[in-house]
Amino acid sequence: MVDLERFYSRNETFGDPNLPIMQRVKPLYEKVIQRLPDEEQFQIRSFFVFNYRDEVIKYWALNGPILRPVLGPEPDFTVISIEGNCMFVFGDSIEHSLYYLTIVLDDFPQKSDDYIKGMFAHEFAELSFPWRTIKEHQNELQKLGKNARKVRINQLTKIDVKVGTQEYFEKEKLINQEAIRLGFQKEITALEN
Ligand SMILES: [Zn+2]
Repeated sequence: MVDLERFYSRNETFGDPNLPIMQRVKPLYEKVIQRLPDEEQFQIRSFFVFNYRDEVIKYWALNGPILRPVLGPEPDFTVISIEGNCMFVFGDSIEHSLYYLTIVLDDFPQKSDDYIKGMFAHEFAELSFPWRTIKEHQNELQKLGKNARKVRINQLTKIDVKVGTQEYFEKEKLINQEAIRLGFQKEITALEN
């Protein structure tokens, strides 16, 4: 279980907390955060961008170029099938790592609570899966040079797969398996249906 207050002490949330839709959505994602297991990847500093698509596009148009040297290329939310994203930088410790979680709210009024929680659980799994994968391969990775290491990390975590490809769907399946491991079976079933 993750302590919400502790989590928020290392979080910055962008957007309007008084958006009417947030009255429904915020308690849902806070429940997801609290149900996350007490694992180190959830102690990483986080930045939340939860908003309607227009605002999300504006946010990344403005901040993407500034953050690109650190985070890499920003997600393209003009692509209507993209509703969520997790971008991260993993340093050598939790303190030197951070992630950005972006969620588009537009379709939420028509969605069930479990679906919405499933979306958030999926995005937290997008953080958890690569963090754990890198940890598992630490011995192997430590033996590699900087560039070879980067290539191998991309390969292991499937960071570079293109949206819509077969590889992408296989990656999404792995991410959903991770979300299930984190305790969100019911919500992932709602998300997939
Ligand atoms: Zn995903």
